[in-house]
Amino acid sequence: MAVPISQMWTVATYVLRQRWSGRKRYPLVLMLEPLFRCNLACAGCGKIQYPAHILKKQLTPEECFRAAEECGAPMVSIPGGEPLLHPQIAEIVEGLVARKKYIYLCTNALLLKEKIHLFKPSKYLTFSVHLDGQREHHDFSVCLEGGYDKAVASIREAVQRGFRVTTNTTLFDGADANSVRAFFDEVMAMGVEGMVLSPAYTYDKAPDQKHFMGRARSRRLFRALLSNRKKDWKFNMSPLFLEFLMGKRDYQCTPWGSPAYNIFGWQKPCYLLQDGYADTFAELMETTEWSHYGTESGNPKCANCMVSCGYEPSAVNDGFGSLRGLLAMAKSALFHDYPDRGALDLLSQPVKPVHAKNPLVNIEVPRASLEETRV
Ligand code: SF4
Ligand code: SF4
Repeated sequence: MAVPISQMWTVATYVLRQRWSGRKRYPLVLMLEPLFRCNLACAGCGKIQYPAHILKKQLTPEECFRAAEECGAPMVSIPGGEPLLHPQIAEIVEGLVARKKYIYLCTNALLLKEKIHLFKPSKYLTFSVHLDGQREHHDFSVCLEGGYDKAVASIREAVQRGFRVTTNTTLFDGADANSVRAFFDEVMAMGVEGMVLSPAYTYDKAPDQKHFMGRARSRRLFRALLSNRKKDWKFNMSPLFLEFLMGKRDYQCTPWGSPAYNIFGWQKPCYLLQDGYADTFAELMETTEWSHYGTESGNPKCANCMVSCGYEPSAVNDGFGSLRGLLAMAKSALFHDYPDRGALDLLSQPVKPVHAKNPLVNIEVPRASLEETRV
């Protein structure tokens, strides 16, 4: 497992304190979106389709700190948009580090080399670089030729300067499991701490609607990817969540585990859906109809979801909150190769790469608004 002991200890003691205090619903990771604008326009993105006046807005550092304090989660993920476009991102990171939050700054890394001097290496700060696969696949996914080379150059620079670095990979239907496994080798050779994986969420606003997976296809893909695992592959994720993705265990969604805060307020119920906003974290917790969400709820918006913001907190709570969970985590640490002959058969089945079936997705947004997105 790639997560450092100090971070695991912080999370484990936090979970135990919540349980001992009898708190039923508690956050683990604050999803802090300081802005929605980005310097890319990926085909599967559901975050950048706002009108220009919204894309120009951003949270102030004080709003970010207030959200972190209100919610109290030990970890803060900073997605976007592209956080490095925020003119005060270094101040935001510094303030969160001072509050001893473990931060995952999610970036496409196009600006990372240029801005890296603004940050100091810290056990609390990780650059989580968006990399969706090998060169051809990543460039296709982010709709930018040369995107992979730029991201990799930034990763090497950050690793060399002593920063914690992970990659962050979203997988879509048609992903070639053999290519993704070769990609894992490439990423680990870059010297990163670990990898983060997620199946894509079926955003209805994303320009490319053809490549989202249902739950069965997600499980099949992750079984092929993560069984017969190589020793040197490290994942910066809960091992029980990886087993959930492989179809080895079942969890119910814990949407309050990763509450999302952005320029509109606290988003109901999770980072992915927008069923209204609350002004405070307490109001979010009290006024959200939690029973309306999760795959078991029958809500069609949740039907295919296996995304980490809903299901990884369930796995973390299971792992640190019960003896059975702790034993399962210990087992996954000792026997981490997951031998599976059926998964080897899946790897030998032919796959047609997505970019062979479909040319690069053309993002049909008016030129002016795309330029706005890239401000
Ligand atoms: S890098 Fe791509 S997926 Fe991430 S916010 Fe920008 S457009 Fe969306
Ligand atoms: S199942 Fe997915 S979309 Fe639905 S509430 Fe949970 S995380 Fe959000």
